[in-house]
Amino acid sequence: MCISVWAFFLLLQTPTWLILGPLSQNTCCGASRSFKPRPVAAKFPLMGPRDLTSGVTPSGRRMSEQWAAAVTGGRPRVVGGERPASVHKRLVAAFALSVVTLVAVAAVAVALAVRFQECGGGGDEEEEAGGPPGTDRPSGGRGERVSAAEEEEPWRRSRLPDAVRPRHYDLNVAVHMDNFTFSGDVGIDMECLKATRFIVLHADRLEVSSVAVTAKRPGGGAIRVQRHFAFPANQMLVLVLHRELRASRTYRLDVTFEAAIEDELLGFFRSSYGLGGQRRYLAVTQFSPTHARKAFPCFDEPAFKATFSLSLRHHARYTSLSNMPALEDAAGEDGWITRRFARTPPMSTYYLAWAVCDFASRETSTEGGVTIRLLARPDAIASGAGDYALHITKRLLAFYQDFFKVAYALPKLDLLAVPKHPYAAMENWGLSVFVEQKILLDAQVSSASYQMELTMVVVHEICHQWFGDLVTPLWWEDVWLKEGFAHYFEYVGTDFLFPKWNMEKQRFLTDVLHEVMLLDGLSSSHPISQEVRDAADIDRVFDWIAYKKGAALIRMLANVMGQRLFRKGLNDYLLSHMYGNAARDDLWKKLSEAMRSEGRDIDVGAVMDRWTLQMGYPVVTVSKNPAGQLATRYISVSQEHFLYGQDGGRGNSSFQWQVPLTVAVGNGSRVSSETLIWIRNKTESHEMSEMDDKTWLLGNINQTGYFRVNYDLQNWKLLIEQLHADPQVISVANRAGLIDDAFNLARAGYLPQGVPLQLMAYLPEEAAFLPWHAASRVLYQLDKLLDRTDDYNLFSDYVLKQVATRYRQMGWPGNAVNAEGGVLQAAYQTEELQRELIMLACSFGNKQCHRQAVAYISDWISSNKNRIPPNIRDVVYCTGVSLMDEDVWEFIWMKFHSSNAVSEKKILLEALTCSDNAFLLNRLLNLSLTSELVAEQDAIDVIIHVGRNPRGRNLAWRFFRDKWDVLDARYGEALFMNSKLITGVTEFLNTEKELDELKEFIRSSGEGAGPAMPRALEIVKGNVRWHRLHRRHLYQWLRKGPAPVRRSPPGDGSLAA
Ligand SMILES: [Zn+2]
Repeated sequence: MCISVWAFFLLLQTPTWLILGPLSQNTCCGASRSFKPRPVAAKFPLMGPRDLTSGVTPSGRRMSEQWAAAVTGGRPRVVGGERPASVHKRLVAAFALSVVTLVAVAAVAVALAVRFQECGGGGDEEEEAGGPPGTDRPSGGRGERVSAAEEEEPWRRSRLPDAVRPRHYDLNVAVHMDNFTFSGDVGIDMECLKATRFIVLHADRLEVSSVAVTAKRPGGGAIRVQRHFAFPANQMLVLVLHRELRASRTYRLDVTFEAAIEDELLGFFRSSYGLGGQRRYLAVTQFSPTHARKAFPCFDEPAFKATFSLSLRHHARYTSLSNMPALEDAAGEDGWITRRFARTPPMSTYYLAWAVCDFASRETSTEGGVTIRLLARPDAIASGAGDYALHITKRLLAFYQDFFKVAYALPKLDLLAVPKHPYAAMENWGLSVFVEQKILLDAQVSSASYQMELTMVVVHEICHQWFGDLVTPLWWEDVWLKEGFAHYFEYVGTDFLFPKWNMEKQRFLTDVLHEVMLLDGLSSSHPISQEVRDAADIDRVFDWIAYKKGAALIRMLANVMGQRLFRKGLNDYLLSHMYGNAARDDLWKKLSEAMRSEGRDIDVGAVMDRWTLQMGYPVVTVSKNPAGQLATRYISVSQEHFLYGQDGGRGNSSFQWQVPLTVAVGNGSRVSSETLIWIRNKTESHEMSEMDDKTWLLGNINQTGYFRVNYDLQNWKLLIEQLHADPQVISVANRAGLIDDAFNLARAGYLPQGVPLQLMAYLPEEAAFLPWHAASRVLYQLDKLLDRTDDYNLFSDYVLKQVATRYRQMGWPGNAVNAEGGVLQAAYQTEELQRELIMLACSFGNKQCHRQAVAYISDWISSNKNRIPPNIRDVVYCTGVSLMDEDVWEFIWMKFHSSNAVSEKKILLEALTCSDNAFLLNRLLNLSLTSELVAEQDAIDVIIHVGRNPRGRNLAWRFFRDKWDVLDARYGEALFMNSKLITGVTEFLNTEKELDELKEFIRSSGEGAGPAMPRALEIVKGNVRWHRLHRRHLYQWLRKGPAPVRRSPPGDGSLAA
């Protein structure tokens, strides 16, 4: 599953003081996120270019008032706001009930039981009767304590009992698109593993009209159901039988049910789109992680894999699709058809999917005969917007089959582009569903970032066909087993498609590694494998720690093992567990075996448990053994838990890791090859080649490891001199890594504030994209901390000084359209660097940059032709809105309204948040919640982006608090959206007053909002502490300016004074 853009993505999002700026975007995939660093809302001075355009025109104002009126005028929203209560709240309330007191729960259960239909003779006195089933988990999960009540009544436990398990489902669903309901019947073939009188499975929001159980053997016959009832607290359907089912026998459970096709994006839900002035509807499923139970009664846990035979009945004006190809269509006289699909292989319920729609499609097929189709709105198919995704999917299937040495398991793969979806995409087996923005590409207007983002989402989902669909994590605690892999392969797979993008070796660092180390350096972080007991926990595990830390750990492991052995291990793992489930230990075992097959005896499990069961990561400090004037061969290395808030590193002293540290030494013009050292103790000493006082040490070569490296000040000085004298001696990845490490070490109090600034003063010498990208990320972070301080100009001048030379040299792009990556691929590094520099220059106030942006916007308005190169449109739009008058805002708003290209719409909307006009920002905030023009998922982005604008910060923060009830009702159910929003509006707060406001808000309203609130509090406290402890030093350094660094000629490693 791709958590993305709106959906999920800020889940654990980043701290501001920790991050900021480049955090827009995407993904499942981290890819893009930093891809389009926010050009910085409104950073522009009020004077200057504003004069270039005329004042407010009456027509402009009228235009916007009309929009506002049209928009707020009141048709009900298609999705959302009116939901009576969010699922989550209901769940949470239910859980609270059940946990708080058994008595209360019992009362609820009795009350509920009474309401439910009773089958067979009257049985409430039977409730305590019958042998309770066993208490062992089917697998996965840590030992769960089971109370006596739970033993007697297994539906009181949050997990299904393991007395019976499903083998096959015959599922028939009739879909009524006219009134948005569906009805169905399901026949489940079950195997009884332990004698039991209870059948407990999942069902949620379903109206069950009949249940029946029969023994599946000759002469078996019906088994009387004493009664059945729903147990909503655990979303379960319970059957109490007159007699026990017997172990080793098979039975059939038949249930008929009906329900609404929901208006929210879970279970079996509806969605719509406009075509030719008409509203057209579709219905589609989203079952992950726990919503299959909203569409049919089922054993809705990942380890209960079974086969499925589905048939769908619907009106013939729709088509339908599911995981498997259709076998036959039977037309009825009523204008309806029944479509029967082929039987699936064994799979988890949450990967089952179906859709009923009137979409058009394009298709292709692989050499192995797998049919790939892309289905989307007819107009999108006609314009060719789906062709790019179709084309890369075909290549990717071949890539993964070759990489994993395991064939794609199904005869077909459909990619379905839907207008609304809770995630960027969902990897249902054979039927992956994407939100349109993540799969439709209009090459004429799409930026390189957009294309890359979309590409990575597709790469991610296709990877899941193996890691996820074919081999499924046993339980949600190890969801990173699939999400970490899919995220890692976004980079590997994209490199296959576009080798010059150099994703895994470069982009991975800024978008994944640097990003997640920000989060995982907080004391509110958590281990990547975390205990999961109830439904709220399940939603919580889909966070950036699972995705990004998972990917970073996998990458570290792949580098330690070497690609060949890593692939061998993965191949074994997939073959051993295909069509089944696996836990992390299963993976470690296969990887250890692969290592052992070549005589490398590493217990991968023992190493990785430290990384997966402990939160956080170490900072490794490397220094030469003090040897006076003498040359030395020894280095000392120590490790400690890295934490931001502790200043000087007082993390958890009991934490220790097995760290695969690679080290090289360098001097002037050359660097040694790397040495791998395993660090297992707090402090160790290791022998290297001979070093003198001009030799520097460099750790974590190419930043393949998931940790930070610190050095003594003398070594930092030597590294900085090296960067100034000849940066090329140090690899691109390490140059980016040094910037990120130095900045964050200073942020956390491990290094003086001047070290990263002195280091970044080499940037005028830097010609590669990645170090610039790393630098801009940390500079935007600092910017958000400083942008309301008195001496801010000292900082912006420093940044402009670093940027000026390279910006002038790179200039602005021409207007070449990139088609299918051709142009893009050739020029990617150049284009991205150019974009990065323009963004920095315009954000921090480079006058020439401002003039250029304003000229582009003026040209667009006067000619009505948009000649702005797609790759920098977001920067130009935002700069224009920020600097120019209200007419420009109206113009962009009009374009937002009229644009059909999804990528363009998104950046137009974001540009509107760049205004420095409080009236306009307020109006936009209100429109975001009331206007049909702003999609529900985009409203969050509007609020967050207004908050990023220094002039909008207070507005967004106040708006958030005022509208909390509305926002919580709308997004509270999707923890990730809530989390993104909470982080987004709070991460900029950095004064004592704001901290108090946040505390007050949490106390009065926000206590139920999940982990985002404590994290927000930690981040804001960190911001305030940084101001108290470090701001003065930073400005002192800026006032003095960088110390002169001697630019030593190559070969001369002499020290600066
Ligand atoms: Zn995923």
